[in-house]
Amino acid sequence: MKINVVNPLTKAHLYEIESPSQAELNKVFETARELQKKIGALSVKERIAEVVKISKYLIENYNGVSERIVSETGKTKFEALSNEIFEVCDNIDYYRDHAEKILKDQKVHTPLILMGKKSKIKFGPMGVALIIAPWNYPLMQCFLPSILAFLAGNAVVYKPSEVTPLKGMYEEILDGAGFMKDAIQFVYGGKETGAALIEQRPDKIHFTGSTRAGKQIMAAASKHLIPVDLELGGKDPAIVFDDVDIEKTANGLVWAAFTNAGQSCTSIERCYVHESIFDAMTEKIVALTKKLKLANPDCEDCDADVGCMTADFQLKKVEAQLKEATEKGAKILCGGTTIEGTQIMPPTVVTEATTEMELISEETFGPVLPLLKFSDEPEVIALANDSEYGLGASVWSKDLKRAERVAGALKVGNVAINNHMLTEANPALPFGGIKNSGFGRYKGDYGLHTFSNIKSIIIGPNNKVIEPHWYPFTKIKFETFPKLMNAFFSRPRKWIKFATVGMKMDNMGNKEKINLNK
Ligand code: NAD
Repeated sequence: MKINVVNPLTKAHLYEIESPSQAELNKVFETARELQKKIGALSVKERIAEVVKISKYLIENYNGVSERIVSETGKTKFEALSNEIFEVCDNIDYYRDHAEKILKDQKVHTPLILMGKKSKIKFGPMGVALIIAPWNYPLMQCFLPSILAFLAGNAVVYKPSEVTPLKGMYEEILDGAGFMKDAIQFVYGGKETGAALIEQRPDKIHFTGSTRAGKQIMAAASKHLIPVDLELGGKDPAIVFDDVDIEKTANGLVWAAFTNAGQSCTSIERCYVHESIFDAMTEKIVALTKKLKLANPDCEDCDADVGCMTADFQLKKVEAQLKEATEKGAKILCGGTTIEGTQIMPPTVVTEATTEMELISEETFGPVLPLLKFSDEPEVIALANDSEYGLGASVWSKDLKRAERVAGALKVGNVAINNHMLTEANPALPFGGIKNSGFGRYKGDYGLHTFSNIKSIIIGPNNKVIEPHWYPFTKIKFETFPKLMNAFFSRPRKWIKFATVGMKMDNMGNKEKINLNK
């Protein structure tokens, strides 16, 4: 199957991609399985040295890389630099300092009942990790999970979205950086290619994309019991209390709703503003929104705050939601109409929307900011939680105690206070959602552990003692064991009794010292 790739801003045809044959897919997985042995044998320090080469390359070649990202996504150059290149480098920088510690054997407590033994957790590779990504942050969504999987000792197969395949760019980065050849391999194609890759039985699947596709991927993975992480859609609420600084908060809300032209899984999609400041906040937000500079198809190099929509099908979805909302009584205060002949939807502010409208109940994934009123804390928590999604949220207030209390009550995976989507800027914080936003976490310690076989080890001496829980199960053992339980589980523990009964049990277990016939 051939797929056309276009520049969404200029509509220029760029190139075609063609789905790989079955033989090509087989080869990719053969290479990955073979190479994984080599990757797994590297020390974590050696793997870190490999990934650091990628950030060095990106920093030196940021201009060419961001131009390439812009040409297929239609985002602004600053967004390509800050949300994609910087984010990849920032995560590499974090794991450069922390990966060894995160993947080191962890000593854990061994209870006294297992006296003489030691316990630890080892983090080993899983094998081949398959990473399937969407089109909104194609560099970050490639390298972040790929690097984590590689650091944990896995070989990686990556399938970018057919909308923004960036064909050849990833290979150019890795070759240019001098990164271990084929440790991350790239397979281009549509969803049928994604499905065929799952049939190759990778050892782990990390999926970022829509809830619809996430369910299909989980069903396909379940046939082979492949573990999956699902990073799916969102409908992030922002909650704005009456004590905020209006100027600062309005600036933050406008950025968080329209960054990446709203095509961010954690952009603000519902903004609940306290009724006492609703009019003032609305006025400020509309004024700031009207000032945003839109991308210009005739001048790709001109300054722009907001780019175009990357996918025409997504633009149609946004238009349909706005149409339904206005027909049911919502008011558009600015934006709302696509600029003719383009995929540019001007940033749109909406009021009087309700949960009966898809604009409030379904993911929009476009530059639309619905403003909704609330009157008190319990009401707004209930409104924010009234969603099938549970990815991110934000709480805006001077009263940080209240903000934390509300953050704790929200049914989501990530909350920023007096900011939005900022948890994602800290590589030490895990990222992921609940409900229809998926499950599993990556980044932070979880980022490496999710790609690891987490192995428990218990180590005992090889001496002459026959363990009391081994055979034979004699009557006297059955009668003595409750005394041991009683001593062990009482508080304070009855140490002397525990030691005496314990020794007796040890002796019973030692076949040489007991009379099996008694
Ligand atoms: P999508 O689900 O249509 O496609 C994502 C990827 O999955 C593509 O590479 C596609 O080819 C592949 N795919 C689709 N169906 C498949 C199947 N049945 N088997 C195997 N592969 C399949 O999503 P999209 O339109 O590319 O991206 C937008 C969605 O991604 C939005 O819902 C957005 O919220 C979500 N997203 C989530 C996060 C997150 O971290 N939670 C981040 C970014 C985007």
